[in-house]
Amino acid sequence: MLHREAVGRVELAFTDREGGLSEGPWSSLNLGTSNGDDAEVVQRNLARVAEEIGVDRLVRMTQVHGADVVWVDEVAEGEIPRADALLSDQPGVGLLVRVADCVPIVLVDRDKAMAGVVHCGREGLVKGIVPAAVAALRQRGAESLEARVGPRACGRCYELPVEMADAVGALVPEARSTTSWGTPAVDVGAGVLAQLRTLGVPATDLGAGECTIEDERYFSYRRQGQNSGRFGAVAVVR
Ligand SMILES: [Zn+2]
Repeated sequence: MLHREAVGRVELAFTDREGGLSEGPWSSLNLGTSNGDDAEVVQRNLARVAEEIGVDRLVRMTQVHGADVVWVDEVAEGEIPRADALLSDQPGVGLLVRVADCVPIVLVDRDKAMAGVVHCGREGLVKGIVPAAVAALRQRGAESLEARVGPRACGRCYELPVEMADAVGALVPEARSTTSWGTPAVDVGAGVLAQLRTLGVPATDLGAGECTIEDERYFSYRRQGQNSGRFGAVAVVR
């Protein structure tokens, strides 16, 4: 585990590559189920994460780079909803978000015992998945939200064609950046932090100074390609 914390009645954790059973490019704690890794081994990795955070049920999403938010009480047992944010005020149900270069975010309400996990890449930043998740939590009564933002591709590495980088920058100026070699880029993490600031949600950046593309401690789609594993973040209301 990269990071583990309790915030009020919410427990949360961020994983990295270490501590799993997968081999090769997925070595070792791969949580991805559609990247070529052995399905049985991935299930054992997921079970390991569930056990470590102490939940019987760990709900994950089919992440589609959209802005759809799902409450876990609307998810049937065994169902894997198509969404990019999973929210809960149900004690004992674990929430999982999986990434390889995109930004993993955990939202917590210290007083109301609510939690959310969010997947945000370039498209999610533009479509506003973080504001959508914050709005949904507040609609259900959250008043003291705070965020933990995890490791992701940094703005000095995440190169994009100039049209795409400019399109992101037009909507979220803080996210427009330049690679270390001088070409157009996007810093999705900076964009997420700016959106949280605008929403009045204090954030702790656990990925500050980190970069999934540069650091082999993490899985990275840009570095490893189709076969990259997925690390992630989990949260549970107690
Ligand atoms: Zn980087």
